[in-house]
Amino acid sequence: MDDVRALADLLRAARRILVFTGAGVSTESGIPDFRSPGGIWDRYPVVYYDEFLRDPEAQRQYWLRSRETYPVVAAAAPNPAHTAIVALDRLGKLLLCVTQNIDGLHQRAGLAAERVVELHGNGQWVVCLDCDSRTPRDAIQAELVAGTEVPHCARCGGLLKNATISFGQMLPVEALAAAERAARECDLCLVIGSSLVVYPAANIPVSAAQHGAPVAIINASPTPLDALAQVVIREKAGVVLPAAVAQL
Ligand code: NAD
Ligand code: ZN
Repeated sequence: MDDVRALADLLRAARRILVFTGAGVSTESGIPDFRSPGGIWDRYPVVYYDEFLRDPEAQRQYWLRSRETYPVVAAAAPNPAHTAIVALDRLGKLLLCVTQNIDGLHQRAGLAAERVVELHGNGQWVVCLDCDSRTPRDAIQAELVAGTEVPHCARCGGLLKNATISFGQMLPVEALAAAERAARECDLCLVIGSSLVVYPAANIPVSAAQHGAPVAIINASPTPLDALAQVVIREKAGVVLPAAVAQL
């Protein structure tokens, strides 16, 4: 437990923590991460953004996959790792929580919307690629379950897509800018549950380190950025983080 104490020391000294999360912060909520084989994400092929735009068969595959994965995400509840991040915020230490997740669990755990930046969008909404109107994902799920293979916009008939970022799709400019600003301003970058191989998201902790902030990583498996970190803990986030926060 020496490493938990080392993490607690970093948290205690910090005033502006940038928390950077990936799928691993939500596995204890029952949402499998991306890289575990045989999971819900593997049953249908990944659809790249350009294919989705031009190929009706790719659109069909996209919504088939989404129809199956959405209920898992919708049913999930925040776990002790999400709650411990909220505790850091209540202690006045959280600058920003930058997440690659689309599950909305940081907000549901109690973080204010302005404390969370979603680099890969949000799965609770669907957006029309033509008129930008937004529809709750629940309403679209009802259509899919009723047999619609590729849903279209009720307002303009345009193509709908989850308000999430697909492979090959640009990240939201404002979210990325806010994350980069926080990387420059933070005095600690705490990475939780990310393999740190998905770019440009993984640039955020790199940038924080370049600006002089210490980096701590809680991740079950090794990451390419471990050498950059002051503290690396390869255990469950839902156990380690609450234990460290309890020492503050
Ligand atoms: P990833 O799947 O590449 O890596 C997750 C990492 O978390 C792994 O290295 C794993 O060892 C670790 N991990 C798993 N459970 C853990 C736990 N309990 N405690 C500590 N570490 C744990 O995830 P990524 O880096 O976020 O990149 C994958 C992409 O997939 C992201 O872009 C993300 O948007 C998307 N995704 C999101 C969700 C979600 O919203 N919950 C789920 C799956 C995938
Ligand atoms: Zn529309």
